[in-house]
Amino acid sequence: MEKYVIGLDIGTTSAKAVLFKKNGSVIAESEWGYSVSHPNPSWSEQDPIIIEKAAITAIRSVTKKAGVMKKQVIAVGISTAMHSLICVDNKYNPLSPSIIWADGRSVEQANKLRLQTDIYLKTGTPIHPMSPLCKLVWMKENDYQPYIEAAMFVSIKEFLLLRWFGEAVVDYSIASATGLFNIHTFDWDDDVLEVAGVTRNQLSKPVGPTAICQGLTSELANLLGLETDTPFVLAGSDGPLANLGIGAIAPGDVAITVGTSGAIRQMASKPQTDNRQEVFCYAVTEDRWIMGGPTNNGGIVFQWLRDVLGEKEVELALTKGENAYELLTKLASTVTPGSDGLLFLPFLNGERAPYWDANARGSFIGLTMAHKKEHMIRAGLEGVVFSLYSVAVALERLAGESINIFASGGFARSPLWLQIVADIFGQPVHVPQSHQSSAWGAAWFALLAVGEASSLESIKDSIPMKQTYEPNNLASNNYKELYKTYYQLYEVLKPHFSTIANYQRNVK
Ligand code: ADP
Repeated sequence: MEKYVIGLDIGTTSAKAVLFKKNGSVIAESEWGYSVSHPNPSWSEQDPIIIEKAAITAIRSVTKKAGVMKKQVIAVGISTAMHSLICVDNKYNPLSPSIIWADGRSVEQANKLRLQTDIYLKTGTPIHPMSPLCKLVWMKENDYQPYIEAAMFVSIKEFLLLRWFGEAVVDYSIASATGLFNIHTFDWDDDVLEVAGVTRNQLSKPVGPTAICQGLTSELANLLGLETDTPFVLAGSDGPLANLGIGAIAPGDVAITVGTSGAIRQMASKPQTDNRQEVFCYAVTEDRWIMGGPTNNGGIVFQWLRDVLGEKEVELALTKGENAYELLTKLASTVTPGSDGLLFLPFLNGERAPYWDANARGSFIGLTMAHKKEHMIRAGLEGVVFSLYSVAVALERLAGESINIFASGGFARSPLWLQIVADIFGQPVHVPQSHQSSAWGAAWFALLAVGEASSLESIKDSIPMKQTYEPNNLASNNYKELYKTYYQLYEVLKPHFSTIANYQRNVK
C-alpha cells in the first residue's frame, strides 16, 4: 500500500493542501482562497474562522481528488505565513481578526522601537509593523479591547492547533517571526515580553519543527477525511520551508522566491545579527537558522506594469486565450539587457529589506526619447532583481557567500525573468519542477517526524529539478556597471521619498 504525506500551506491568499508521494512527486493539489480586508487603508486583516474552514476543505478535497484511503496518509506537515496575530479567549474563540504581515497600523510604534537595537539583536526580527511585537505595542497603546480581554495571543497556525488538538504549541520559526522570541536561547524573551505587555502564559510553548499534535475528534477527522490519529507536524513558517522544499539548505545555497511579494533566504549554522538591522534571522531547528530579507515589491511590480502599460496585451490575451504576462515578456525580451540605460527602483509599496523604509517610492531613472514601453517593462523586471541583489549583498555580509541560487514562485514561470536573475547575480539559477516548495518542506518535516525520512539533507534526492539558467557574460557585465549606479540611488533619493510620501498622505 503506497504511503502519502500532505503539506498544508496556509498563505496570504489561500490554503493549499498538496498530496505528495515520499519521493516528492505531487499527486494532487487543492486550494481554497480567502480575502484580506482593509477596514482602514493601512490595516490588513483576515477572518481566522474562514481560514480554518478553507484549510479543512483543502485537506479533505486533496485526498478525495487523488482517491487515496485515509490510512494511506501518514502525516500532515503545516506551513504558514509569518507574522499573523490573533487575540483568543480561553475557549479558543477569536476575539480579534488575524492581523497579517501586511498590516501597517503600528508604523509609529515600529519607528520608536527600531531605536532599541538590542531587541533586533536578540530576536532577529527586524523592527517593522509586520511583526506581532509592534502590533502588540500598538494594541497596548490604543486600549484595543481584544488585547485587554485576550487569554492568549497566537498565530494562525497556533489557532488551528488550539482548536483541533487543544494544544498551545508553536514551532521555532513561527515563534521567531513574532519579534518576541530569543533566537539564541530558543525561548520567549522576558524583556521583550515586557515591552509588548504580555506574559508567558499568554503565549504557546515553543517546540522544534518535528513536534507532533495528534488526537483529532472523530467529527473533525471526518470533516478532514483523515484518521483520528493522523499526526500533524508543526514544521515551520513558509520561508524556511521553501528553502528546504527547494533544496537550499547547505551553506552557500540561496533561495529566491518571488510571488506577489518576494524574499531571498539562506540557511546558517549559527545565528547572526548586527546593528544595521537589514536582514532577518529566525531559528528553524536547534542547529539551523534562516537568514534573509523580504521585499514588498516582487511579482506585484509586473502586475502593476501590466495594468498601467499592458492594456493592449491584456485585451489580446483575453481574445486569443493567451497570457498577458507572456505577451509583455516577449516584448521586453526585444530590448538588450540593461534596458539601454533605463533603471527602475521598484519600491511601489515602500520597501522592507534592505532599507525597511515605508516611505520609499518607485522611480524610473534615465528616461530618454529613445525609451519605449518595452524598455519600461524590461527595466521593471530588472529593477525587481536589482533590489533582490541588494538584499543578497546585505545577506552575504552575515550569512556568507552565495554559491547556488534556487528560484521559485510565480516569477519562475518567466524564462526571461530567470535569465535576468542569472545575469544580475552572475551565477547559475536552478528551478525545481514543482512550485509547491513550502508545502514540500512542511511535508518533509512531517516525514522526518514519523521516521519516514532519515535527515533534513536527504530531501535533496527528492526534489525533481526542471532547468538551470546559466549567466551570460555580456549581460552580466552590463548589469554590473548599472548596479553601481542603482545601489546609490536609494540613499540619494531617500529624503525626497520621505517628502513625496508625506505629500501623498496629505494630498487634498
Ligand atoms: P502568490 O503566491 O503570492 O499569490 P504567485 O506565486 O502566483 O503569487 O506569483 C504571482 C506573480 O507571478 C504575478 O504577480 C506575476 O508577476 C508573476 N507571473 C505569473 N505568471 C507569470 C508569467 N507567465 N510570466 C511572468 N510572470 C508571471
